[in-house]
Amino acid sequence: MTFDLCVLLFVIMIVNYEPKLDYSDVLIVPKTSEVKSRKDVSLTVETAFKCGSKWSGVPIMTANMSTVSTHEMALALSEYEMVTCLRKGGEYYVTFATAYPEKEKYVSLTLGLDADSKLFVDTATIKDPTFVCVDVANGYMIEFHNFIKKVRDKWPTSILIAGNVVTQEGVEELSKAGADLVKVGIGSGSMCLTRRVAGVGYPQLSAVIECAETAAALGIGIVSDGGIVHPGDFAKSFVAGSAFVMAGGVFAGHDECGGEIRHSNNNASLTMLHYGMSSKTANERYNGGLKDYRASEGRTVEVPYRGSVHHTVQEILGGLRSACSYVGAFNLPDLYSRGTMVKVNRTINTIFENHEI
Ligand code: 5GP
Repeated sequence: MTFDLCVLLFVIMIVNYEPKLDYSDVLIVPKTSEVKSRKDVSLTVETAFKCGSKWSGVPIMTANMSTVSTHEMALALSEYEMVTCLRKGGEYYVTFATAYPEKEKYVSLTLGLDADSKLFVDTATIKDPTFVCVDVANGYMIEFHNFIKKVRDKWPTSILIAGNVVTQEGVEELSKAGADLVKVGIGSGSMCLTRRVAGVGYPQLSAVIECAETAAALGIGIVSDGGIVHPGDFAKSFVAGSAFVMAGGVFAGHDECGGEIRHSNNNASLTMLHYGMSSKTANERYNGGLKDYRASEGRTVEVPYRGSVHHTVQEILGGLRSACSYVGAFNLPDLYSRGTMVKVNRTINTIFENHEI
């Protein structure tokens, strides 16, 4: 193939110089508020989706990671009306939905593009799950779009989550394929090495703002996936336009994760194993090892053991209620419509960060 280099240089903008933002670049601005107490804030939303289904609950979901999204996690989070995107695999969802039909609305069946997921879609006889999440690292592949169409046809009334992408083009393609919710985030996850290995990604907050705008115009929503470090990041994500916020790292290290509790190397603390789904560890456990044409794009870490997840959930939900009260929001739709953010140079004063008792 031949092409004229001069023409190419004029046509393609190689670098977008417009500043793009992460959660750590902004703070939410307080405003006059009629909220008297955080207990007056409701975090439960009722949402109608393009597929025609409705769902009510708290729009926070766990990432479909093996070291996070277990049945035990789903049982704990369902008490708060939060969603657990179960680790991948049809049978893992079916066992839960059969044992706890009354809690099925708080879990998602999660599939990928692997042979087992394709077989499950071809052969399963289950009625439409409340949520179906089809998750791949690169949501721009045409093969993925075709699979989403197939899943849409198989379960027409399921709330279909598809991703990941980070641009308006990505949202449009997944909407066309039938997604109700597009999962947004590439490279922002705590276990992610994609930015280091492939040099690919997009600052999470800007990705959410831009993709949410496109999604709203198409009558769908977005799930912001990855990059939550502090409880306040959930609030920033809702102000930016997320319909749901998904997180992995903040839910790791708890009893409900199901992993083994270990002593750290220097025996000073208790830890749990946590690994990314594209890590060498995950590839060895689920894919027969890392293929010779691939690099590991995920970390394997020991996270501090944190006991039961209930305390963490209270911090997250308490933080969200607090954010709402600061901007005069009685609920999450109010938080989105009333919330504004300011770009800052420093979000948190860290002088005593390592001295907390
Ligand atoms: P976190 O909340 O921990 O910052 O991000 C969770 C998200 O990170 C997951 O939902 C998923 O999209 C992404 N993720 C999980 N494991 C891996 C991995 O091994 N590699 C990459 N690139 N992303 C991962």
